[in-house]
Amino acid sequence: MTDPAHVLRTVFGYDSFRGDQQAIVEHVVAGGDALVLMPTGGGKSLCYQIPALVRDGVGVVVSPLIALMQDQVDALSALGVRAGFLNSTQDPGERQMVEAMFVAGELDLLYLAPERLRMESTPRLLERGKVSLFAIDEAHCVSQWGHDFRPDYLQLSHLHERWPDVPRIALTATATEATRKEIASRLNLEQARHFVSSFDRPNIQYRIAPKNEPKRQLLDLLRTEHSGDAGIVYCLSRSSVDKTAEWLTEQGIPALPYHAGLDSQTRAANQARFLREDGVVMVATIAFGMGIDKPDVRFVAHLDLPKSVEGYYQETGRAGRDGLPSTAWLAYGLQDVIQQRKMIDTSEGDDAHRRRLGQHLNSMLALCETVQCRRGNLLAYFGETLTEPCGNCDTCLTPPESWDGTVAAQKFLSAVFRLDKERRQRFGAGQVIDILLGRKTAKVIQHDHDGLTVFGIGEELNESEWRGVVRQLLAQGLLAVEGDYGTLSLTEASADVLGRRREVRLRRETAVKAPRAARSTKAAAAVADLPAEAAPVFEQLRAWRAATAREQGVPAYVIFHDATLRQIATQAPTSLAELGTVSGVGENKLAKYGQAILDTLSPGA
Ligand code: ADP
Ligand code: ZN
Repeated sequence: MTDPAHVLRTVFGYDSFRGDQQAIVEHVVAGGDALVLMPTGGGKSLCYQIPALVRDGVGVVVSPLIALMQDQVDALSALGVRAGFLNSTQDPGERQMVEAMFVAGELDLLYLAPERLRMESTPRLLERGKVSLFAIDEAHCVSQWGHDFRPDYLQLSHLHERWPDVPRIALTATATEATRKEIASRLNLEQARHFVSSFDRPNIQYRIAPKNEPKRQLLDLLRTEHSGDAGIVYCLSRSSVDKTAEWLTEQGIPALPYHAGLDSQTRAANQARFLREDGVVMVATIAFGMGIDKPDVRFVAHLDLPKSVEGYYQETGRAGRDGLPSTAWLAYGLQDVIQQRKMIDTSEGDDAHRRRLGQHLNSMLALCETVQCRRGNLLAYFGETLTEPCGNCDTCLTPPESWDGTVAAQKFLSAVFRLDKERRQRFGAGQVIDILLGRKTAKVIQHDHDGLTVFGIGEELNESEWRGVVRQLLAQGLLAVEGDYGTLSLTEASADVLGRRREVRLRRETAVKAPRAARSTKAAAAVADLPAEAAPVFEQLRAWRAATAREQGVPAYVIFHDATLRQIATQAPTSLAELGTVSGVGENKLAKYGQAILDTLSPGA
């Protein structure tokens, strides 16, 4: 039998396994079931790819990432691995060819879209060949508690019933304790060995800013810290995706939209440009990004509040898979809270479902309002403890001041109370703030609100500070919001504040930017820690890679990753044998690109 370490070296060109990889690979090679939790970029793919190459038969990979199957297969082919896929994008002819290869045992890996599992023809096909293992990628899709449930995933339990002796490995980059339990039970993996890695992504800098002028704030981030970088901007609605992409384009930033309302051709074309070209910004709804394994996404920005910490962590996790410094930036304001509460109130489904959505939102709000390390808060959500503050998030870099907001909270809550109890009226935040600020607006006069005892008692704060207070009261459950107009009402906990039995600590709104570690541009990042003489060589190698990728119609990273090119530039190998020692240069790529690399390194030699 082939040795996994040998496959790692010769096929993938890597010297050693990372983290739990070796233990996982050995366990699956030996026929064991595994549940693998590893953060994005942790190296999950090798955990099933190597066992599939070592074990007899074809490794069947179930993955929801239909749009990316072609790239995955291309990347494997570049390594000399025989891979194919079956999904709805193929015509029957292509499908038949892949099926024939599977039956003849001419594949190492077969990627299957989950909807294939619903078809009776699929198990019939699988029975005609030899399956070495089942890999279930993005396994959190089986969980209803999680944020990305796919009903087709429920069919996966049948595979086990039909092929009880074939090992199964389920993998995900996102799972709380609750999700993990649900994955294990739904996939019948309670008896499987669980491999849980740390979820920390130390190279990502987490920042959450109060939302003032979101588009301006975004532009500022892109211009000052990420000029020329590839990144993803998430918006909640299709129309804001379109508007934001258009606006960024007008500002001279190459930005493309992506959402479910675009026709599939445009979506595919935009995704291809994002993957293949350097420095493209994708503005998208959360329909975009799962499984995008572009390693050099330098930032993920959220212009709207994500619905859950799990979703947020998965989306931000798409930044910096190559381990280089990256930014996760979120702008969040009062309107987000009001809008999300409204969406929950009006969502379909039973009370339990609404309660679950509410819990998800509350955890997300707690993350936004924390005065402690963001990373500590995030990891705690996934059941991990950070022993000390991370030093690479906004609260660590610019510790926020907290202030005693008890009196402000009392003023605001008593204004809501007076409106509600004395006048039997409910209003939104804007009207209450106008009252506290003593503004005689038309609406204030119309409702006689200047006659309230609370009129004008809040002039010590300005409007945006008041909005910060309201947002935090909502986040802390000291205030409730309802209906289409976002009207405010008191909660049970409000009484404790009004009765002076509870102190309210608030985070002070600051508009300061997080100071940045040394780098400022893509060039700086990519060239970082390269010796002076290697920098131009690295650029030459990148230019060669871009040309080769274009010629072959594959993303640049399928040829070589930045990290590999960097090592080549530094080491300046003079022979194929020496080039073969570089991490990321396996036998197949050495044979295919080795000479071209050496020629690029010493032209005319
Ligand atoms: P995940 O699926 O967990 O997000 P990937 O499988 O895409 O992560 O791996 C992330 C990156 O790390 C890829 O570029 C991969 O080639 C690289 N990688 C994985 N394992 C190793 C290893 N043992 N040595 C060097 N690089 C590795
Ligand atoms: Zn921190």
